[in-house]
Amino acid sequence: MIDYAYEKKIFTVISTNGTRLANPQFARELAASKLGRLILSVDGATEETYKVYRQAGHFSRVIRGIRQFIEARRELGKKYPLADLQFIVMAHNEHEMDAIKKLGKELGVDRVIFKSPQIYDFENAEQTLPQNPRFRRYHKVNGEYRLKGSYSGYCKKIWYGSAITWDGKVIPCCFDKDAEFQLGDLADSNFAEIWEGDNYHRFRNLVRNKRDSIEMCKNCTEGLKIFLNRRMHMADIKTKPTDNSVTDFLNSVEDEKKRADSFKILEMMREVTGDEPKMWGPSIVGFGDYHYKYESGREGDFFLTGFSPRKQNLTLYIMAGFKRYEELMAKLGKYKTGKSCLYIKKLEDVDPDVLKTLVTESVAHMERQYKQ
Ligand code: SF4
Repeated sequence: MIDYAYEKKIFTVISTNGTRLANPQFARELAASKLGRLILSVDGATEETYKVYRQAGHFSRVIRGIRQFIEARRELGKKYPLADLQFIVMAHNEHEMDAIKKLGKELGVDRVIFKSPQIYDFENAEQTLPQNPRFRRYHKVNGEYRLKGSYSGYCKKIWYGSAITWDGKVIPCCFDKDAEFQLGDLADSNFAEIWEGDNYHRFRNLVRNKRDSIEMCKNCTEGLKIFLNRRMHMADIKTKPTDNSVTDFLNSVEDEKKRADSFKILEMMREVTGDEPKMWGPSIVGFGDYHYKYESGREGDFFLTGFSPRKQNLTLYIMAGFKRYEELMAKLGKYKTGKSCLYIKKLEDVDPDVLKTLVTESVAHMERQYKQ
């Protein structure tokens, strides 16, 4: 099936707990295949934490399997299948984020990806949800958990992709973990018939018109509205990261107060993102990055958040925009905004906790939108 999809120029992805890779022959065959990407779900950096979520799994066996797969791919001189080590950040394992990054590097995977947990049992949500707000996809509003952000009926997955279970059932996406929404069976029909069939059309219409009626879709971040400032992107599109020293740049800020405020913002953003700052162009300090692609085909990379000590003000880049954060903005203090720019004269003009929450929420939103 993978080879057939490859011939038709369809990119394929397999998401696995990696257990079968412990079989050396299987690991080699998969490495030799035309698969595009292999997502390896490893939600712990030690046997102890791994077992909390994957109770029947064996950490050491999975790691051995991943090593075999990476080694086989290396021996074959192949770049694909790309290997992503995926880690769902939960209360019991969030202390292992650095350890899993280190493990990913040591194993030689292409990326380590952190995901926020999806909750089904909200009564016991706090037992699962991490403390780190970047990896909590829910707000608590009047005692109820609600997805951060708002969504339209838009879901690109129902138009651009499908998931197929091990036994040939076609389902809308990998969030349908128990194959509740079977749209067809490859044992009875070919994929084109299923893709164009009544079941698929009915499901697409349901998502478009009554997404709230589907529990799985209600709890999914796909299609969350974003308020990216396209105009700012157009203006800043040529802004690229450089190797210039952030410290030297900030030390060169003439205004003493602005310089001191800049170093405070630097620390706050470093703490929120967990990333090291980089100079973007001559005067923006950026943290992290994401890859964007417009429907027009234009694409590029930009930072997740950042700031610039300009002559007239301190400009903070809140890439998710402000409309979704009305409550926070009401409590923030004295400021002006552009579409994704927050302008403040000095740090004392705003509440530092509210500012930090705003940056945290924006970064979490961008990561959900572009990295999960
Ligand atoms: S769960 Fe999410 S990705 Fe899947 S069909 Fe629903 S909205 Fe789309």
